[in-house]
Amino acid sequence: GDMPEFTLPPLPYPFDALEPHIDARTMEIHHDRHHGTYVTNLNNALKEYPDLQNRTIEDLLRNLNSIPEAIRTAVRNNGGGHYNHTLFWEIMRPGGPAAPSGALADAINATFGNLDNLKAAVKDAGLKRFGSGWSWLVLANGQLQVVSTPNQDTPIMEGQIPILGVDVWEHAYYLKYQWRRADYLDAWWNVVNWDEVAKRFAAAR
Ligand code: MN
Repeated sequence: GDMPEFTLPPLPYPFDALEPHIDARTMEIHHDRHHGTYVTNLNNALKEYPDLQNRTIEDLLRNLNSIPEAIRTAVRNNGGGHYNHTLFWEIMRPGGPAAPSGALADAINATFGNLDNLKAAVKDAGLKRFGSGWSWLVLANGQLQVVSTPNQDTPIMEGQIPILGVDVWEHAYYLKYQWRRADYLDAWWNVVNWDEVAKRFAAAR
């Protein structure tokens, strides 16, 4: 129809760009199939609600109570999936700096003591998430904080601003790491795009 639709953003690098830490087949299925399906299902849910189609994904997720009950869960799950994965692709890259610098590094050191403590907190939250979900570094009330969400729930539903997030659904790591979520969470730091994370932190403050 003529109505705007949400679209699957292209992956900002080739499927194999994050090898060996995240394998190409996982990236292809994860982006094209999993994220693609969230976008399709979100558009299907909004089909009969043209007024909602004009709102941004952030606006929909920040105001879930304004969504008709008939599609609220579908928007929460698939809209959250679309938002979370769009962020996830952007905060990864091959060959970036191994650590943050500048104001972000200062804030991490002030809040967590050092980068290793932040990594440990993100890993811990990801390991404690039973089943599927995400581990996040967010800005909440002006403070950096590590939180976890179930399913495709997203920190912006809680008024928090995600700075960095790692997908701990099995689909994110199972082909390469199988049951070893901890190994995936350790390896994942090798592909973090600290420049993008710093940008998000600067915009959030
Ligand atoms: Mn995922």
